[in-house]
Amino acid sequence: MRTKNLVSGLIWGSLYVILTLTPLVILLTGPKNSGRPPLLDFSVSLGFSGLAIMALQFVTSARLKFFNQPFGTDIVYHFHRQIGIAAFLMVFAHPLLLFILDARYLRLLNLFSAPWRARFGVLAIILLIGVVWMAEYRQKLKIPYGFWKVWHGILATMMVGLALLHIFNTGDYTNLPWKRAVWIGYTVLFLLMLIYTRIIYPLKLMRNPYIVKEIRKERGDVWTVALAPARGKALRFMPGQFAWLTAWKTPFSDSEHPFSLASSSEQDDHIEMSIKNLGKFTSKIQALKPGDKVYIDGPYGSFSIDRYPQAKNLVFIPGGIGVTPIMSMLRSMAERGDKRPVRVLYANQTWDATTFREEMETLQQKLNMQLVYIIERPDAGWQGESGFLNADIIRKSVPAEWLNGNSEVFLCGPAPMMNAVEKALMQAGFNESQIHSERFALA
Ligand SMILES: Cc1cc2nc3c(=O)[nH]c(=O)nc-3n(C[C@H](O)[C@H](O)[C@H](O)COP(=O)(O)OP(=O)(O)OC[C@H]3O[C@@H](n4cnc5c(N)ncnc54)[C@H](O)[C@@H]3O)c2cc1C
Repeated sequence: MRTKNLVSGLIWGSLYVILTLTPLVILLTGPKNSGRPPLLDFSVSLGFSGLAIMALQFVTSARLKFFNQPFGTDIVYHFHRQIGIAAFLMVFAHPLLLFILDARYLRLLNLFSAPWRARFGVLAIILLIGVVWMAEYRQKLKIPYGFWKVWHGILATMMVGLALLHIFNTGDYTNLPWKRAVWIGYTVLFLLMLIYTRIIYPLKLMRNPYIVKEIRKERGDVWTVALAPARGKALRFMPGQFAWLTAWKTPFSDSEHPFSLASSSEQDDHIEMSIKNLGKFTSKIQALKPGDKVYIDGPYGSFSIDRYPQAKNLVFIPGGIGVTPIMSMLRSMAERGDKRPVRVLYANQTWDATTFREEMETLQQKLNMQLVYIIERPDAGWQGESGFLNADIIRKSVPAEWLNGNSEVFLCGPAPMMNAVEKALMQAGFNESQIHSERFALA
């Protein structure tokens, strides 16, 4: 699995770099105006590469399984975000350098008098500022996630379209048939991605709906939804992966939410998601009824014991609702008869709200597992660990010989807990490469 992922990661990574740099070949080859200042070429090269990256953002956000598999969906999303900022700076530097080169270029900012090629360019940059500003400040500005997502897509599509029109209308760089062919290639790729993500993929999901079979209340304001495919078998996944759920709407609405697949990966007739009431969508989950139709897009993610089959010992550290992918791994291990030694360090605010605590006891009987609860606000008389999970508790609960590289650690919980526990694990002696984290935040 590791070698296969490494090879396909290298292939996709190389293709990405080639597609980003191809516009520079357009710039550097073919007939050139000999008087063209180097700063002008540099400015255009930044604009070209920035635009190529922007067009490729439609690939990195399209959740293509073959592209996500080698890297992991969370890494692809973080890459999408970081490279988007880099591309923004490159594109933004393009006009700034022109203004430094010759102040007369400033006249092109006047949308009433400027030629169309400049109008397209200026409008593309205004939209780009809007896209990046909304993405960076969404939470501070309290922009609802669903609203932001729709507008992020619309503005980005318009922006890339306008930037391509800017290039096609700026003759210097499309003056040879092969150069035009390359830019037409980028335009076609961009349009194909739009058609695929907005029409073909939602249609595919619509043709394979899931039906709600059961909805159960769990401890900690969590609801478990059991779903079975309307036709055929349920999706196959690695324990720990997640899928996107669309309820009450069609997949065309682009309003899906990510949830870990909490059931065992050994079941092929149904899947389960356990969802904590945390906001607008999750507070409505309990209203789902058996027989309701929903849509599932998955599996995604790389947070799974199946990616580390060589691990001799396994440490699971769930915090609160972060228990869901870990339940899937434990339930799958139980069904597989996997007897590898396991330590579970389960952190919760209160004992009463500790989700799945009864099932954890059952799993302890079936697996070679030791379970330690860490309760932040315990009731009087609590005998176990209390407060926050720290390096001392880790040292006490995990055998010292597990630190030597034969064990893998799976951590999932609220962001502040994960930041603190990652540090505590390293203080206790684990290597960074042994620690695998799933953050419940992609956006
Ligand atoms: C990989 C992954 C696995 C997850 N697994 C689980 C799980 O098993 N159980 C569980 O209870 N929760 C899980 N979550 C968290 C869950 O997706 C969010 O709690 C839920 O989407 C919030 O939606 P809301 O409308 O109720 O909350 P809101 O209050 O509207 O949103 C709160 C925040 O959640 C995020 N969010 C909201 N909508 C989306 C969306 N459509 N896509 C991505 N992020 C969004 C945004 O950052 C938003 O600011 C997981 C998240 C991720 C990324």
